[in-house]
Amino acid sequence: MHRFDEEADDLARAIVDYAVARIRMDPPPLDGPRREPDLRAEVGETITFDGIGGLEALRVFTDHLAPATISVDHPRFFAFVPAAPTESAILFDLVVGASSLFGGTWLEAAGAVYAENQALRWLADLAGLPADAGGVFVSGGTAANLSGLVAARHAWRARHPGGARRRALVVAGASAHSSVALAARVMDVDVVDAPCDERGALSGDGVDATLAELDGEPVVAVVATAGATNTGVVDDLAGVADAAEARGVWLHVDAAYGGAALAAPSARPLFAGIERADSLVIDPHKWLFAPYDCAALLYRDPQQARAAHTQHADYLDVLQKDGDWNPSDYAYHLTRRARGLPFWFSLAAHGTRSYRDAIESVLAFTGDAARLVEAAPHLELALQPALSVLLVRRRGWAAAAYHAWSERSLAEGLTFTVPTSWRGETLLRFCFVNPRTTLRDFELVVDSLR
Ligand SMILES: *Cc1c(COP(=O)(O)O)cnc(C)c1O
Repeated sequence: MHRFDEEADDLARAIVDYAVARIRMDPPPLDGPRREPDLRAEVGETITFDGIGGLEALRVFTDHLAPATISVDHPRFFAFVPAAPTESAILFDLVVGASSLFGGTWLEAAGAVYAENQALRWLADLAGLPADAGGVFVSGGTAANLSGLVAARHAWRARHPGGARRRALVVAGASAHSSVALAARVMDVDVVDAPCDERGALSGDGVDATLAELDGEPVVAVVATAGATNTGVVDDLAGVADAAEARGVWLHVDAAYGGAALAAPSARPLFAGIERADSLVIDPHKWLFAPYDCAALLYRDPQQARAAHTQHADYLDVLQKDGDWNPSDYAYHLTRRARGLPFWFSLAAHGTRSYRDAIESVLAFTGDAARLVEAAPHLELALQPALSVLLVRRRGWAAAAYHAWSERSLAEGLTFTVPTSWRGETLLRFCFVNPRTTLRDFELVVDSLR
């Protein structure tokens, strides 16, 4: 493998040209999945003893592999949680890769960690966390929830020296993301369901009653959700915080999707109480215009997380001697990509005002889209819109019709929108994060549902 020659130069240009062209496609083709046998027939074997060469591998990607992936940043991608990374964040991601940064320790990457910490600080300030709060960017909300809950259990055990052998409990509502149940399985703890209101929001009274029933049990955390992924509904954070605080239980707030709206003054009041979180998750790769993968995990008291997550080994102990801030110490990981840097770069370049405005524009768009649904005789809102999620009923349709429409409209390149269920009913779910989505885009989808 050569380090540099003319061929390498051509390849570098081709890759950068492709990357820039892809970012600037407006819109990119929606594309869609292919069957494995079809890809095998078309692409064949790509790993060979001699190598196929960089330009050929790039051609295979651009001609065959990329079109077999859905463009999450397409303005009519409304499924799950879309993404809409800024051009500057994506370009800087190339720089992060080019720089071979080891983002785990201050010793190896002080400059990168300094910048990541400023981006984390912006999020901590939006939430109103104290000045000494801090954390780390991890791969996703799933990894962040696990790491936050591990820290919560560790802190509980430190306060209950006799309790180390007891199976821990976590209290959460139906609003909690599936990754909380997964974290509980990994940790081998039980999740106790707390009652939710008719919109699916966890209430302070519900948590209070649940904690009262569990008096004396090893409850290591209460999980509140600030923006349920299925509905956008924000739990009663202040009420839940009161209930948790009254019994000295760690409050973990999962705002992986919704936390971006902390930057929008119009939505900020929904989050009252979030400043009392002991741990908080916000995914910049969802609604904060960062490329995958990037999730912020913040702790009110980072020392507690450090106690839970620091790895000790003869060859690592040199990292601990100066009390440096090592991102590795705040989650379940060691080696890590400095994945907060693309987010930091874009935030630094554009300023926080652009973020506020972009998120406000998505919220305003959601209101406009909801009015379109209400005005359409064939559609109705199944739930009042919360944050940037709409649950829509197509009058007269059963589950199969929703699924057929979803598949057809992806195949036609119109939209990627998938059905969900809410209270046992199949519905369409639209999630908006892309400021480039226009009302015309949504109108096309509304029309196709006739
Ligand atoms: C998306 C989401 C998660 C999981 O995040 P990943 O980044 O996909 O791992 C967790 N909680 C909530 C509320 C989410 O919306």
